[in-house]
Amino acid sequence: MVDDEKKINLIMALRRQGITDQRVLAAIERVPRDLFVPETFARHAYDDSALPIECGQTISQPYVVAFMSQALEVGERDKILEIGTGSGYQAAVLSHLCRRVYTIERYRTLLAEAQKCFDTLGITNVTAMAGDGTRGWPEQEPFDRIIVTAAAPVIPNILIDQLKIGGIMVIPVGKETDVQTLVRIMKHEDRVEETELMPVRFVPLVEGVAREL
Ligand code: SAH
Repeated sequence: MVDDEKKINLIMALRRQGITDQRVLAAIERVPRDLFVPETFARHAYDDSALPIECGQTISQPYVVAFMSQALEVGERDKILEIGTGSGYQAAVLSHLCRRVYTIERYRTLLAEAQKCFDTLGITNVTAMAGDGTRGWPEQEPFDRIIVTAAAPVIPNILIDQLKIGGIMVIPVGKETDVQTLVRIMKHEDRVEETELMPVRFVPLVEGVAREL
């Protein structure tokens, strides 16, 4: 099967699993996931599974990317912050749904690879930075939406502070070794509403910029 056919099959599978947002499905259709996975795994690029990338990290499972994108209820004018660029795939999907994506990664190696993919695809509304995402991106706040693609032991208050009133954040919460819970946070004027969405497994959110050889 060629990649285009595999991609259509993946999209039909996502639809069957409850991904109904047409904009999200169309964004996934537009992004060639094969570009974001290491060459050795290219033939699995359209399997609905997470795959290893460099620096011991992972590119998320397409279903999880679609589910998180849908849960964010992204608007066309939104400014989104992503913590954990990884391969850049989730950021590329979001780039087709909103005005601008700011994404932070603690491994420079991963960031450079992701930036190459954005350049290859002509994606110009993603701004990527090497840094510690646990502090958010103070120069660019507030954000309409925040997506964290690494598991945090607790929800970082700094990130809630950088979210607009009426804004939504989606974040996996829990220890590295346990099954974590994907949580959706809605910031109201006077309170923060938390909804548990589903069990997930992500690599951990680690403080500080990574030391690389
Ligand atoms: N969104 C990614 C998934 C990447 S996995 C994708 O679509 O491929 C999670 C990523 O979060 C890893 O690359 C890891 O290095 C990064 N990460 C973990 N803690 C971080 C932190 N404090 N700041 C920025 N990135 C972090």
